Amino acid sequence: VIPEHAELHLLLSMVTPLGWLERVPTYKEALENVTDKDLHNYGFLGYPVLQCADIVIYSKEGAPLFVPVGEDQVSHVETSREIVRRFNAFYGLEVDVDALIDMPNKEFEQLMNQIPNLASAHGWKDVLADKLSNPQVKDRVRQNLNLIIRHEVAASGFQNFIQKCPGFVPYVRQTDKLNQPDVMLTQTPRIPGLDGRKMSKSYGNTITLSESDADIRAKTKVMVTDPARKRRTDPGNPDVCPVYDWHKLFSAEEPGRLDWVRQGCTTAGIGCIECKAAMAENLIKWIAPVRERRVQYENNPKRVLEMLDDGSHRARKVAQGTMERVREAVFGWDKKRKEIGGAAAKA
Ligand code: SF4
Repeated sequence: VIPEHAELHLLLSMVTPLGWLERVPTYKEALENVTDKDLHNYGFLGYPVLQCADIVIYSKEGAPLFVPVGEDQVSHVETSREIVRRFNAFYGLEVDVDALIDMPNKEFEQLMNQIPNLASAHGWKDVLADKLSNPQVKDRVRQNLNLIIRHEVAASGFQNFIQKCPGFVPYVRQTDKLNQPDVMLTQTPRIPGLDGRKMSKSYGNTITLSESDADIRAKTKVMVTDPARKRRTDPGNPDVCPVYDWHKLFSAEEPGRLDWVRQGCTTAGIGCIECKAAMAENLIKWIAPVRERRVQYENNPKRVLEMLDDGSHRARKVAQGTMERVREAVFGWDKKRKEIGGAAAKA
């Protein structure tokens, strides 16, 4: 058990706009397709935030972070990147607000005008008015200016902001408190389910690792194929057929099998039934040793627990390191302690 995941999830959820989560394609798709569960709760909506926490909690400061995923998860990783960018903009950005406030008004106005569309941004004119006419409200100016710049950086990302507004270079600096994750796709980045939709346990269109040979043959026999191939004599198109996607994954090592499928399908030389049967045999060959190992573990739950404990122990150390960085970025306790007197304050 690694409670740090829950803590990071909570902190990330504070900077994640609801609209981002509501627009996640898999969220909308599941709301439409899953009818036997009530998915209208934060746990489901906020799942991408938890996923982001799960990913970025295992990272080293400054080191690249790759996630091996399928194509359908790319948008989730992109959401994680956005969340991390926003987090860094809120907690990793240093703005020299005092230097901006002390700047001559004319120069200040020119600099702020580098920000596109800022003229219409809420609060900007108030900041300028306060700065021009009311030097006593320095705190309010400081606070509003800070917010405006932080929101701009959060919206476009630090690098984009600096490119658009180079005049800010001496006044803003960002350290990435969390690393933006990137995807690492395999050669078969998309494997559809048996019915051609996204593969998901909730859709009941999967083959599980414990499935028997007979079940694998029965389930793959009714797999969806190229919908345009209605009769055995119609040529088909493997590139739109889920069975061919599975062939690419499980039959690539069998010499000539992929060519046999492509040639036979496009010339109506083979039927879908034999094509599926050939794929099922290769899938069974691939799954058999995995299934065997699974049974060994099933018969030795103590060993499984040991492995889980050992993994959790190692993972937790990394997670704790990340959370120290994150907590300092959000709450700044160490910084505060140093400001008010180090050891004395700790005591
Ligand atoms: S022959 Fe194979 S690849 Fe072609 S449509 Fe049928 S199942 Fe799909």
